[in-house]
Amino acid sequence: MEECSGMIGENNFLFYNRGRLFINSRVGCLAGCSYCYLDKIGIPKGKVTKQTYADDIIRAIEKNSKTIWRPRNTFVSFGCYSDPWDDYSKHHTKKIMMFLDRLGYKATLSTKQPVNLVDLNGLHSLKKKNFYFLISIPFAKEISKMEKGTGSLHERINSVKVLHQNGFNVAIYIKPFFEKKTAKSLPEIINVLQCIHVPVILGRSFVSSFDEKGSKAIISNSHTLVESESKEYFKIKSILEEYTKVYENSFQVFGD
Ligand code: SF4
Repeated sequence: MEECSGMIGENNFLFYNRGRLFINSRVGCLAGCSYCYLDKIGIPKGKVTKQTYADDIIRAIEKNSKTIWRPRNTFVSFGCYSDPWDDYSKHHTKKIMMFLDRLGYKATLSTKQPVNLVDLNGLHSLKKKNFYFLISIPFAKEISKMEKGTGSLHERINSVKVLHQNGFNVAIYIKPFFEKKTAKSLPEIINVLQCIHVPVILGRSFVSSFDEKGSKAIISNSHTLVESESKEYFKIKSILEEYTKVYENSFQVFGD
């Protein structure tokens, strides 16, 4: 998932903050990532507390698209309180993607679940330049330990290949960044980059809670999470830059 940069919105399915609109068709996630921040913001780990339908989300976006959430200056991110490509959500996500496409929004979707060719049915008419799939691979070596209930490394690499081969924009999403664990994953990531030319998003910091005003992100005080000034971050970034473009934030992929 991507991190929502602010307090939980009114209904949790849609959250808007500073030009970014986060969409979740469910709140909560059945996967069990050890670093997941959902329980820190009041959503119990491993549980889905609410779910909704694509049509309700579409109606809400439609209502606001001419005022605050204008397509021209809004970046959409699927997921932050859920994985938007899990078995329940992907059907809704696809429907919303097609709707956003008609209105001209730019959107990213990050997932740890497998994306296969059958899943992409119905999306081939999408204006693909407006969408990026972000295949999350923060810990190539420790997926089964760190990210229980998600796709395997093999499945995630296959997702990158399938999306790339079928003309969809795809990037490898490395977030959260844990110095040692991310460094250990580099050989696997580089192997992929040597075969498929896709950008990488290397998240610089990990937001796990928010201040009482609801806008300023606070870096977790857990000793395992890296501060944004880590020297290791820049070392890893420059290694990856030998192979591809590397961005710090997901919406920067549209900058090219
Ligand atoms: S995929 Fe992992 S990090 Fe994302 S919402 Fe689910 S448990 Fe949390």
